[in-house]
Amino acid sequence: MCGERVNSIYDLTIEEMEQYFLNHQDKKFYATQLFEWLYQKRIKKVEEATNLKKETRERICQDFSFQNIVIDTILEGDGVKKYLFTLKDQEHIEAVLMYHDYGLSLCISSQVGCNMGCAFCESGRRKKVRNLATGEMVEQILRIEESCQERISHVVVMGIGEPFDNYENVCKMIQIINHPKGLAIGARHITVSTCGLVPKIKEFSNFPYQVNLAVSLHAPNDPLRKKLMPIAKAYPLKDLMAALDEYEKKTNRRLTFEYILLKDVNDQEEHAKELVSLLKGKNAYVNLIPYNETQHLQFKRSSTIQIARFYDILKKNNICVTIRREFGGKINAACGQLRSIKEEV
Ligand code: SAH
Repeated sequence: MCGERVNSIYDLTIEEMEQYFLNHQDKKFYATQLFEWLYQKRIKKVEEATNLKKETRERICQDFSFQNIVIDTILEGDGVKKYLFTLKDQEHIEAVLMYHDYGLSLCISSQVGCNMGCAFCESGRRKKVRNLATGEMVEQILRIEESCQERISHVVVMGIGEPFDNYENVCKMIQIINHPKGLAIGARHITVSTCGLVPKIKEFSNFPYQVNLAVSLHAPNDPLRKKLMPIAKAYPLKDLMAALDEYEKKTNRRLTFEYILLKDVNDQEEHAKELVSLLKGKNAYVNLIPYNETQHLQFKRSSTIQIARFYDILKKNNICVTIRREFGGKINAACGQLRSIKEEV
């Protein structure tokens, strides 16, 4: 049995793998070969990597594990499949596969639980247990492609957890899935969503990959944002917007703002107008998200009319805006819902 107690082979970037081979007096280019075996030929055990020396294969087998997450449950809805995974320590995470006209997009988790405590979010009802390892994020994509026998074209880090609270592993995962010898998913097809950890947004502006950044805004002013999102107490909108301006200047990338519409909480005309003034002149677009109600939380979804009103105000004021196509309401596909049903917490 390959490496039971040790690291996952999917934790390693190609550079780390090169270093591993060099450290063992093996050839550096073995890393490229092994990457191809793992991500293109999709081997399940290292014995299948026939162009590596036997003793090298044996050492890899001792040092690394190959399968670390397994699919527990699959729920299918309209244009969406939801996967519940069991990890080696028996924890659960979720990923959601969405069928779009432009391809298949997968929403992956970055942590077990979440410490951000957003009032409307199911994931945050359970505190962070641990960060996901790089390989546990990479494997969500591998295992789902294996299960559905289709190629995932887009990845969004918007499942359970706050990706910028697991910054290093998320960045490594991006390097692996973007690498031409890895999963070769284009950087522009990868999106990271944050609730607004300002220091990490600053750091991310120097991350040399053209990935997209989405920011969960959900309120156009500090008092309301603080009520919904505790992170706003640490980083008020002024600081968040300044960090995002800097990000935009450095990367020249368009930002996405996510805004969940919660009935009578943040969906009124005055909120839309305030949002317009906050975002005027920015290279940004707003994704309005109809709230997926959950049995544990009291928030309600805004009416269709209210959503349309909100949308119109933004549109009339030249803010780029879309209403998120609804996925997975019936199958509890919103962040963290499936895990909490499975674990009944
Ligand atoms: N922590 C990151 C990523 C995970 S949450 C972030 O905050 O961006 C991903 C997105 O799903 C966020 O915009 C979050 O607010 C939203 N979300 C959470 N619960 C939801 C629900 N019940 N219905 C609709 N969207 C939800």
